[in-house]
Amino acid sequence: DEKKLKKFYIGSIDQGTTSTRFIIFDGTGTPVASHQIEFSQIYQQSGWHEHDPKEILESVEQCIEKATQAFKDQGHDISDIKAIGITNQRETTVVWDSETGEPLYNAIAWPDTRTKGLVRELKAREGADELHDLCGLPLSTYPSSVKLLWLLDQVDAVREAYDQARLSFGTIDTWLLYHLNGKERGIHVTDATNASRTMFMNLHKVEYDDKLLGFFGLDRNKIKLPKIVPSSCPDSFGAMGSGSLKGIRIAGCLGDQSAALVGQQGFTPGSAKNTYGTGCFLLYNVGEKPVISKHGLLATVAYDFGRGRKPVYALEGSIAVAGSGVKFLMNNLGFITHSHKISDLAATVEDNGGCVFVTAFSGLFAPYWIDDAKGTIFGITQHTERGHIARATLEATCFQTKAILDAMELDSGHKLTELAVDGGMSNSNLCMHTQANIIGIPVDRPAMRETTSLGAAIAAGFAVDIWEEFHELKEINQKDRKIFEPSISKEESAKMFKKWGRAVEMCRGWLS
Ligand code: ADP
Repeated sequence: DEKKLKKFYIGSIDQGTTSTRFIIFDGTGTPVASHQIEFSQIYQQSGWHEHDPKEILESVEQCIEKATQAFKDQGHDISDIKAIGITNQRETTVVWDSETGEPLYNAIAWPDTRTKGLVRELKAREGADELHDLCGLPLSTYPSSVKLLWLLDQVDAVREAYDQARLSFGTIDTWLLYHLNGKERGIHVTDATNASRTMFMNLHKVEYDDKLLGFFGLDRNKIKLPKIVPSSCPDSFGAMGSGSLKGIRIAGCLGDQSAALVGQQGFTPGSAKNTYGTGCFLLYNVGEKPVISKHGLLATVAYDFGRGRKPVYALEGSIAVAGSGVKFLMNNLGFITHSHKISDLAATVEDNGGCVFVTAFSGLFAPYWIDDAKGTIFGITQHTERGHIARATLEATCFQTKAILDAMELDSGHKLTELAVDGGMSNSNLCMHTQANIIGIPVDRPAMRETTSLGAAIAAGFAVDIWEEFHELKEINQKDRKIFEPSISKEESAKMFKKWGRAVEMCRGWLS
């Protein structure tokens, strides 16, 4: 009952690609206090994208302190916060010295494409064809494995630490858990969803695979890999080691896209969600057996709630550029002063005026996987205005979502009837309406769009017995959802999509 649930609070650390948040939810899934900090995006060279692991950690600590202060100022008691969940940008790779805990290089962020050449070499290596069936991912610049290989190859301090068996590897979840606990506790873990993005994990067994590690030439005696544990766990993630929340248990951990699926309550096979953040990621629940895609999608762990439950898998369509396209128009081209103004700019024109923008800033991800594609705008004329380009930028994500849904239908034999959405760019009504038009099914957006944070809170809440069964969540975040219905004909949308398909073909193999 609502009164009882309101007395419980769960903290959620949401470490995204561009910002960090800490949100405190009550037992009805309502945020009661939060704080958000943007942190530096480091672009040393074209195609490179890094984060400072220490700045990320500090941003988490600051968000926790600020939100907790606001929580106390409202008259709440910290002892009512029963657990903390973590959700994080995935694949982003951190290496540190096992002895000192100091990072040995910046974190290489997931959209980074410096490994393009390396990936080409790896694809030609013996055994390359066998990887996909084992780990569910195609060889590309995207997973952690190739980022780690680059670090071992190019950074002396990393290679030295490896040779001396004091190299620790982790994705952002692992890095945060290690430091939030205090390094003397030696927590070096990752959850199954994050591990499934490294390319080191056997997707079927949910454990590291010697064949995968062997392919990448890694010697497990020389590198500390985090232990893989379920996403919802009362005792594997430790507890806060310092700060206002010292001693509170960390009980949930999920990669951001998995967390969003949980936050949208995509618990039944056949349910899906699409999150429009920096990138855009569609996850489709396929149940307790992984489906290895034949049409350019990834297979991944959706979530693993442990305690005798089997891990649940998803097919995933990953789009590298979504909100980052909006940021490009703002920061690089000066079209707008705030991301939310993109909708107004797009609304100054009726349609894209014939423009198609393939926003392949870091190659094209699903379902195309074209590493060497470059961002290209087609169809510019004397009449082209900024509004047309704004529309084409929003449409690029919508078209890729359509291509992903088509691939998903082929892989699963199932057609989606409605798409649940969230993430920063889903704030744009114009974009969501365009999305409904392009896929021809309704788009369903919750009023409270912090579903990623909510998902991590749910994972933590399950671990400390606030909830025990998924059906107990059914009231959460259902109020005031907005449905966007398609309003153009199938023929019209097919015509637009065909044009997009041509544009994708034309940006293949552009000279770097
Ligand atoms: P992440 O977790 O990847 O950092 P978020 O879900 O916070 O991402 O979304 C941030 C992205 O959403 C930014 O790239 C921003 O440009 C975009 N964005 C935020 N608000 C809007 C809006 N109203 N319209 C379009 N894009 C938006």
